Amino acid sequence: MRFADIPGLDELKRKLIASVRDNKVPHASLFQGKEGALSLPMAVAFASYLHCENRTEEDSCGSCAGCSLSKKLIHPDTHFAFPVGNMKTELKEKDDEKLRNELLKQWRSFLLEQPFGSPDDWISFYGGDDKQPIISREDGREIIRSLSLRPFQSKVKVMIIWQPEMMHPSAANGLLKILEEPPAYTYFMLATAQANQLLPTILSRTQKISVPVLSEEEMKKALSARVKADPVQLDRAIGFAQGDVQEAIRLLSSEENDHQEFFQEWMRSCFKPDPLNLIQLSEKFHGDDRLQQRGLMLYGLHIMRESLLMSAKASDLWRSRGKEQEFVQKFSSVLSVNKIDRIVTVFNDSLYQLERNGSAKMIFMDLSLKINATLKA
Ligand SMILES: [Zn+2]
Repeated sequence: MRFADIPGLDELKRKLIASVRDNKVPHASLFQGKEGALSLPMAVAFASYLHCENRTEEDSCGSCAGCSLSKKLIHPDTHFAFPVGNMKTELKEKDDEKLRNELLKQWRSFLLEQPFGSPDDWISFYGGDDKQPIISREDGREIIRSLSLRPFQSKVKVMIIWQPEMMHPSAANGLLKILEEPPAYTYFMLATAQANQLLPTILSRTQKISVPVLSEEEMKKALSARVKADPVQLDRAIGFAQGDVQEAIRLLSSEENDHQEFFQEWMRSCFKPDPLNLIQLSEKFHGDDRLQQRGLMLYGLHIMRESLLMSAKASDLWRSRGKEQEFVQKFSSVLSVNKIDRIVTVFNDSLYQLERNGSAKMIFMDLSLKINATLKA
């Protein structure tokens, strides 16, 4: 990721670039902003800038050896630590090393596919359960281990810690120790929307870098480049998302895409049940590309979230409108909190199986049967 991949925020970018020019990059910085602020992408772009061999006053070059690695998020001198929760999948059967590699792979795909994704997006991406995710004790040891070696490719090493407030206490203590005496050539970049939950001792050892949310103008520019939408839809999404670009993308795509119609027909067929139609729908699903298939599952999770909020009467948190809201109203009347929980689990399992390139048709049919059984329970 380069600075150019992040919409707007020119002043902050200039400040970061100047700190490199003036040799004043802090050894530990805290990229902080409201929910939806692009703190993590900014840290990732800054790391690429530090590693770039031909950086300019504007940005990293995008084509040197360092940039090619950074672009794929495989630069050996950029390390990541991020919270992970329990998984209800076969992943946890694997040994620690395999698990870590697997998670890192998922993490890279997540950042590449949803560079502005939220903590919730990350949880649904790796198919986590609803337990509080953490940066574990073992991750803490890994942070220290990976920093004990000299840089491989670049002159510096960067450790990016996303949501550092989720660190297990012993990981946080380990971090504190290195923050007191950071290894030479090492830069820590903490990124979070919850800086107020960090240990004061960690706060006092980091330099704050405030990342503002995007202005309406910046949002407009960012969105026009990413999604097709008419000006009215665009204004509505921007007003609703309050500077959170990923949220606006989600709003616009849930209005526009065909998941809505397909999903409603699918749920009706699961409810009846209508096996013949389910087979037809599974064929259609099978023919979609992987991104669309994932999109449908994520849309399903979104509808479950809406149903939960609907049954809790938390109307200020609803995102659905129009036809979608009508559907959620009807659908939530046949659901209970337990049923929603069960359906969320089977959606997450299916997402995981899709990631593993399971047969889309089989996954779809299996999921349909489980949803039917849950609805009829
Ligand atoms: Zn470069």
